[in-house]
Parts: sequence; structure tokens; C-alpha cells
Amino acid sequence: MEKKMSEKRVRVRIAPSPTGDPHVGTAYIGLFNYVFAKHNGGDFLLRIEDTDRTRFSETSEQQIFNMMKWLGLNYDEGPDIGGNSGPYRQSERFSIYKEYAEKLVEKGEAYYCFCTPERLQKLRERQIAMKQAPGYDGHCRNLSKEEVEAKLAAGEPYVIRLKMPYEGETIVRDGLRGDIVFENSKIDDQVLLKSDGFPTYHLANIVDDHLMGITHVIRAEEWIASTPKHIQLYKAFGWDEPKWYHMPLLRNADKTKISKRKNPVSMNYYMEEGYLKEGLLNFLALMGWSFGGDKEIFTIDEMIENFSFDKISLGGPVFDLVKLGWVNNQHMRLKDLDELTKLAIPYFVKAGYYKDEDLSEEEYGKLRRIVEISREGAHTLKELPEIASIYFEDKFELPVVEEGMNKKERKSVEKLRSSLETETGKKSVELFQEKLSKLNENISEEEAKQLLHELQEELGEGPAAVIMPLRAVITGKARGADLYTVIAIIGKERTLNRIKNILK
Ligand code: GLU
Repeated sequence: MEKKMSEKRVRVRIAPSPTGDPHVGTAYIGLFNYVFAKHNGGDFLLRIEDTDRTRFSETSEQQIFNMMKWLGLNYDEGPDIGGNSGPYRQSERFSIYKEYAEKLVEKGEAYYCFCTPERLQKLRERQIAMKQAPGYDGHCRNLSKEEVEAKLAAGEPYVIRLKMPYEGETIVRDGLRGDIVFENSKIDDQVLLKSDGFPTYHLANIVDDHLMGITHVIRAEEWIASTPKHIQLYKAFGWDEPKWYHMPLLRNADKTKISKRKNPVSMNYYMEEGYLKEGLLNFLALMGWSFGGDKEIFTIDEMIENFSFDKISLGGPVFDLVKLGWVNNQHMRLKDLDELTKLAIPYFVKAGYYKDEDLSEEEYGKLRRIVEISREGAHTLKELPEIASIYFEDKFELPVVEEGMNKKERKSVEKLRSSLETETGKKSVELFQEKLSKLNENISEEEAKQLLHELQEELGEGPAAVIMPLRAVITGKARGADLYTVIAIIGKERTLNRIKNILK
């Protein structure tokens, strides 16, 4: 079916308004548009809807570009890269909208409205008092040509309104939801051009989608209510409407629309926390779509290959950070280790473990290994240095049993401490220092492993009795990476110093 539609080249877009931080919802809708375009060999456009100049911010526009690039959702046309249907910023297209609004007036599909704000206010109050739905009453709809010309000549301020049909229905044929029927009598004569000459969202959006050749509008479900107006606008112009797909909104746990009081919604947050773009995209994909079977972890290329609208489910997807953490962890494990290490370096610098990002070859080699071990348990890049602190913090105290610890934690602390008190424990630590002192500074994991073996043989005891006390004096923790790995990474001197420190 999609093949037939592609007789016309598929062109889709996102059209964010640049206000505030880049929103996770923009990334979500951007992802689906991008994937659909790529699946069909079509084009993906970015248009900036900045007609509301009071809310516009240049930094937010720039941050939208950055976010899209960071995610790898590369658009084929956009304000910063150009294209054949530009300009892609609505503020640079104001004259176009005015021209098209006037065209509709000429065609008799729209009209000048000279009602003052005071009249509209009174009308509204009256409607509310009479328990009627507030809306424009069509007062200027039937002004004669002469009346209009006289008012225009007198310089009376005006808006241009769309002539909505008073009767019948407008049907939104939604590709995900089926037909949604609206009664025309309930739809207001939408303002298209405001008194300051600026277009409303509705006019600018439709004129642009048409002129930019948009074939499919994939956007959030909150726009469904506007769609009948959009369809009437297409009719008024005599243009073909695009195919509509209204995606389920991202939701808070309580099912309300995702909001910053209940979830971080700024993409800056996710980028700073150190989520991988692969993890975020995979997670956002799962919010609306399923791969099929029980496959939850996939790449964007796999999604492009397998995409179809019938695998979208409309139940309000809950934006769950625990799930995101799980998905991201999976991608951290799958990621090429060198790429992951490079992405992680700034986080280790921020944690104070390196003075800058310029690591020596040796430092890099060790960090690479640290990342390899630590990524198993990390949900974000930011968690890596936290998990890896045992490789960097040489000064530590043995843990003590504290209030609020559960039984398991309490036991493990007690085991760690008491392992040092036993005869074997004392001997193990002593013999270990003796043997290690004789080795080179750069000791390999193999050598360290060998050393721990020898200890067990010579003391005639198993790992619990021999290794646990060493773990205590070298890491201060009952659990964690293999001890021989820790020893090899921190090297001989630091290992011996740690032991001295803790025994003091
Ligand atoms: N400017 C609208 C927004 O901020 C665009 C909605 C649409 O895709 O039509 O999301």
C-alpha cells in the first residue's frame, strides 16, 4: 500500500516552535517522521514555526538543530541547511501568508472581519452567560463589498477569517485512528491573518505544508482538534490534503500529558545525563511502536527497515525513566568499546578523575578497561565514574554497619570486616604485600590472578578466606569487579599504598 502512495515522493516534516528547551516530544515526533521518510526513500524537513514572535528565542532554535543532529535525525531540508522549498523559518515567509489569505478572500472562502476586541469580549461574555459555546457569531461574514472597501479605506483594523460551512461534517481520515467526524456547525470561523498582519498557526502551517509538498502529516494527537479547520482550509484553497497520522502523546505515570513537573522533558537533560542517542531513540520508538515479537532492543536502521504504521499502538505510552535506563544500559553494552570510552571521558573529567580530556595512551587503555567492566551496571555515561570510583579513590574507610541497612547489606559489611580479623586474613594481607612488592609496577591481570592463586595454595584456604580480606584493604567493598582486574588497573604502588593507609 505504501508503494502506491510513493508515486508521489514522500515528504514529511516536523514543525516545532522555538520556545524554551528542546522538548523530548519533538524528538519523539521527529523520530517517527524521520523513520517514515527513510523507509519510503522520501524527504524529511525541519520547519521552524516562529510566528509567535513574543515567545521566540534564538537559542531554542539553535538547540533544536543541535538536538536533531545529536540524535542523528538528519533532516534533508531546514533553516540551517537550506533546500528547494525554503525559507524554512515562518518569520521569513510573512508576505506569503498575507498573499494567500487575500486569495481566499477573493475566492469568497474567507472574509475581512472588523470586529473590535471589545465587541468580541462582550459577545463572549454573553455566550458564557447563556451557557453557549463561545465562538465568533459571523457578524462580518456578510458585509457588502462596499462596506468592506469603505472600512479598509478608513484604515479600520481587521483580521481575515475562514468561512466555515455552517452545515455538514468534516471527516478527519486518520491513518492510525480511522475516521474522526466533526460537525461543521461547532467549528469557529478561524482567524487566518491577525490584525498585526501575522498569520495564525493554522494558516501558516497549511500554506507551508502545501508549498513544501508535504504528503504525510505525522504529529502529536493534541492537534486532532485543529485538523478539521486544516481540512477546510485545504478545501478552500482547492488543494489536496495530506495523509494524517496523529501519534499517541507521551504521558506521565498518572497518564496526564508529559510535563516537566513529573518528568524531565528537556532534551538537554538527557544529553547531559549521558544517555546514548541509540538508547533514547530506541526508547522513544517503543513509546509508540513495537518491532514485533518480543524484540525490544533495536537500532534505528532496523526500525527504518521494519517500519509500518500498523505496529503503532494508541494506548497512552507512559514515559518511564526506569525503562529508559534499562534500554540505555543495553545499548551501552552493545556499543563499540572505543566509541563508548570516548563518550565517557568528559564524565570522568567532570568527576575529577582526570584533569582534562587529553589522556595518555596508558591512561586511555586503563580507562577503556574500566569502562568495559563498569558498563554492565551503568544506565548512563554519568553513572560510569560513580560505579568506577574504586579505581580512582585511593583513600577510603572500611564500611561500618549503619542504621537503615537491610539484613543482606549488614551481613556483607560484617563479613568484610571480620575477614580481616581471622588468622588467614592477616596472613593473606601480609603475604600479598610481600609478593606484590617483588613484581613490576605494571602488573597484568594474568599476573595478579596468578598471585592470588599462589596465596590460596600457600595458605591452604579458599577464595572467601583469602580474597575477601584483600578486597577489604584494596577496595573497601565486599563486591565489585574481580580483584585481579582492580590490582592490574591501579598498579602495584597504589595497591600497596591503599593497604598501608587502611591498616594505619
Ligand atoms: N508548530 C506546531 C508545534 O509546535 C506544529 C504542529 C504540527 O505538526 O502541525 O508542534
